Parts: sequence; structure tokens; C-alpha cells
Amino acid sequence: MNNPYTYARIDLKGLVRNLTSIKKSIRKGTAVMAVVKSDAYGHGIAAVSTALERAGVDGFGVAFIQEGVVLRQAGISSPIYVLSGFQPGEEDMLIDHNLVPLVYSAGQVELLDRESGKRNVRRNIHLKIDTGMGRLGFLYDDMTALNRVLEKTKNLNITGVATHISDAHDSAYFTKVQIKRFQKVQGFLESRLSRRLISHAANTDTFFNYPESCFDMVRAGISLYGYGRKGLTPVMHVFSKLISVKTLKKGYAVSYGRTYRLKKDTAVGVLPVGYADGYSRMLSNTGFVGIKGKKVYVIGRVTMNHTMIDMKGVNARVGDKVLIIGKDGTMYIGADQIASLASTISYELLCSMGSSLKRIYE
Ligand SMILES: *Cc1c(COP(=O)(O)O)cnc(C)c1O
Repeated sequence: MNNPYTYARIDLKGLVRNLTSIKKSIRKGTAVMAVVKSDAYGHGIAAVSTALERAGVDGFGVAFIQEGVVLRQAGISSPIYVLSGFQPGEEDMLIDHNLVPLVYSAGQVELLDRESGKRNVRRNIHLKIDTGMGRLGFLYDDMTALNRVLEKTKNLNITGVATHISDAHDSAYFTKVQIKRFQKVQGFLESRLSRRLISHAANTDTFFNYPESCFDMVRAGISLYGYGRKGLTPVMHVFSKLISVKTLKKGYAVSYGRTYRLKKDTAVGVLPVGYADGYSRMLSNTGFVGIKGKKVYVIGRVTMNHTMIDMKGVNARVGDKVLIIGKDGTMYIGADQIASLASTISYELLCSMGSSLKRIYE
């Protein structure tokens, strides 16, 4: 059951504005794939994708086939790329819903090729190349596997080639190494196939910082949701409300483990939000929220459904609105800022809060 008192407001206009800013800051003519895996990073895959398709995005990226099926059921007709390929037995689903898998093994290609032949259909696939991520993909120098794929593919169109950059945030050197490795494979495949492929390599951190990484298409995730560069609009705004305020005496301890002891008589507020809502327990004694434009700190441990705050300097009453992340008037609490206090990244905080809370779209 959703928390009845804490909710996420999703600003679809802000989302579309972010798409426009992304398009403006990449090379003209570069296509944009909107990455909407994990329920659009907690923002809701159907609503987000519908808004983006209307705004003219070029395609969608999901982690799993099942998410692609949800998109088709929501009426999405743009290309849908399945970033993690597929597992044996899922070939029919791919074909039925016209999803483009990023395949990463010769065995996968054979399975899909055979099924397509049997059903007398032709579907598109992209080849995923591991140029240094160490996750999914044909190794960039494994020409044996790539040759095998080229020879075995009879009933499929290889229409694209992709890689994923592992360290764009911190290493220009390694990012350039990965781009070089990718260009080599791309050149090899295009010359063997004697045609152009749709090449794509860049996620948010990469396309904003390395124009040469854009190729034909970029894969935008976190930037669509308002993070990863200044000037974007945060799309998710989480609000809660005060459900209790009472004054506790100097020396009184707050919450489990009695990790916070009041240094003087203090008005302590209680918020109906906790780690069950994705508000990490790591924010114990370190997070902050916004009330009436003021920063208010979390005291004691964050519990499953409740979080306590020190009400010093704020004049607020039970029932008053509390900003957890996002924007309210002039007050802004970045998901990236709160995430870093919890030793994580905006991605994780948005996913976990967005997928636990009730969402309201506007
Ligand atoms: C999640 C993901 C992206 C999007 O990354 P952002 O940093 O959110 O822009 C792009 N490509 C792949 C393969 C991904 O898994």
C-alpha cells in the first residue's frame, strides 16, 4: 500500500523541457533515445513515455522486454530498444511487440534468427559491444564472435551498434579509449555489411561532455529527469506533511538506538516518510527537508515509516506541507544533494522514492 500522506508530484512539462535542452546541447541531427527503464527512474513509464513521444523523442530504451511490452500496451509506437537483450524463450515476445534487442552473444542471434525464419518475419537488432564497461556486450576485440554473427544472420537486419561508457564522469582518458575501440568495431561492421549502422554510445554524462560520443543517437536517462547538468528542470517533487510536533526536554533521546540526544529543550517534528518510501536510513542524523522555505534537519534514525526533524527556527504546525526532494516555490532540495548525504546517487533515490510513493502528474 502507498503511503497516504507522502507523494511524488511529476512535472511532465519539465520533462519535455529537459528533452528540448538535451536536443539543443548535442550535435544537430543526433537522435535521442529516452531511457525509461525501471519505471522511468521511478517517474512512471507510461506517463513519461507518452509525454516524450508526443514531444517528438526518437525512441525508447528499456532494460527488459517486459518493460517494452508495457510501453506497447500504453500505445507507444516509436522504436523500443531493449538494452539488456533477452533470454532464451523470449524470442516470441520480442517479435510480437516489435522490440529491438541489443544482443550480446552469438547464441542470442542464432536463437532469434531461427525463430524469425520459422515465423517468416524480419526484425531489427543492434549489436552491443563491451569496450570497457565489463558488463554486457561482445568484447571489442572478439572478431571471431562478430564474424560468426555476421555469417549466421539470415532472417534479421543488423541495423545498429552500441556500447556503454563506464567512467565519463571521472576519466576523459578512458572515455576516449572506449570511443576509439567503439569506432574500430563500428568501422569493421559497416565495411563488412557495406552499409551505415545506427551507432550509439553516450549516456548523460558522456554526451554532455564529449561531443564526439554522440554518433547517430544518444541515450538520455537522468538528464530527462532533471539531473546530470545544471539548468535542467527536476521532474520529481516529493512532499510530505507534519503529523506531530512536540517539545522534548534537554537530554531526551530521539528514535531507535538513541543516537541523537537533545542538547536543549527542542520542538521535534514527525514526518510520515521513512525507508519504506525510499527515504534511506543512511539519512539518519544527516538528511534535511524544507518547511516554509527553511532547511530543517533530520535527527535520530530514519525509521520504516517515520522521520524526526528538529523544528528549531521554523514556525510550523501539524498538517503543514514539507518538501522532501525537488522544488517548492524558491526552495530547492536536489535529489543529487540528498542522495550524496546517503552515499548514493540521484538515480537510486529517484528510483526508490518514485517507485514506492503515489505519483501525481501535472
Ligand atoms: C541506464 C542507461 C543509460 C542512461 O544513462 P543516464 O546516465 O541515466 O543518462 C544509457 N545507456 C544504457 C546502456 C543504460 O543502461
